Amino acid sequence: MSQITADVAEIHWLMDMFQTVDVGLVVLSADYRIQVWNGFMENHSGLTPRQVRDRYLFDLFSEIDEDWLRRKCDPVILLKNRAFTIWEQRPYIFKFRNYRPITGSAEYMYQNCTIFPLTDTRGVVTHLCIIIYDVTDVAVSRMELESMNGRLQTLSKTDFLTGLHNRGAWEDALINEFKRVKRSGHQSTLLMVDIDHFKRVNDTYGHAAGDVVIKQVALAVKKNLRSTDIAGRYGGEEFAVLLVDTSADQALFFAERLRKNVEAMQIEFNQQLLNVTVSIGLGDFQADLQQYRDWIERADKALYQSKAGGRNQVTKAGGI
Ligand code: GH3
Ligand code: MG
Ligand code: MG
Repeated sequence: MSQITADVAEIHWLMDMFQTVDVGLVVLSADYRIQVWNGFMENHSGLTPRQVRDRYLFDLFSEIDEDWLRRKCDPVILLKNRAFTIWEQRPYIFKFRNYRPITGSAEYMYQNCTIFPLTDTRGVVTHLCIIIYDVTDVAVSRMELESMNGRLQTLSKTDFLTGLHNRGAWEDALINEFKRVKRSGHQSTLLMVDIDHFKRVNDTYGHAAGDVVIKQVALAVKKNLRSTDIAGRYGGEEFAVLLVDTSADQALFFAERLRKNVEAMQIEFNQQLLNVTVSIGLGDFQADLQQYRDWIERADKALYQSKAGGRNQVTKAGGI
């Protein structure tokens, strides 16, 4: 084989590799006109090298944020630096549809990319090379993991039966609110709500009926809430509601409305209609409360008075 034939063969192999390699290769002139476009780019864009040749990149791909990409590329030309972009920053440079079956949940291909300078024989940067890596599988699994973690975090804070905050999450919210009102001097009121003679419901109709009653009372609590209020399942048939920025007198309206709503509820279980009532204790924040547990105790004492007073009633701490 002559030297020339060997050189041509080598170029042929190189071109083959360049065409079939599973990354995108794009060469741009310093004025952002496309000079080279490999098989990966052709397959994903549907545009042949001939169609893109000498075209201004930002005319052809309007989805590319020109200012942003120029900010990345200009130092590559001026300082001969390399530049990188990652999908966490921008999901993609070229908006290619994702066709991979395993990562089917992603609509577009997530891309990392490397940009580096190409110099001529004198060492002057005349062109840029952009390498596009398809990282859809990595991105999708990372995002799925994050969303799963988010869901687990929500689950770990939620009461399974009622969908309200569980006791731990609710107490965390109370601790925060306690600190906030201690600092700010705002008014906030705590309600403890307990279903009356709930043991009888369980004993008469069974535990499953008891669960339905708990759910329905929780629903009544939710319906009466404002978005800033925080309700939790404090114990078996006991709920705690934090009414943010609410005075004891304002809270009394909420509590009375809730009490009446529950009293009027007809709860259906196995073709039977059950009625329950709730007793409520209401404790507004007081500056002399030392710790958040004292606040709970204040509302709890009022609840006890409602029970002692005959149930199905609301009591405000410190007497009405
Ligand atoms: P009071 O009017 O004084 O509150 O009487 P009560 O019967 O409601 O009070 P008590 O605290 O004696 O009874 C609460 C009962 O709630 C006891 C327990 O078996 C039941 N319970 C606790 N958690 C659950 C639950 O998740 N589901 C059901 N069905 N019952 C529960
Ligand atoms: Mg009870
Ligand atoms: Mg109870």
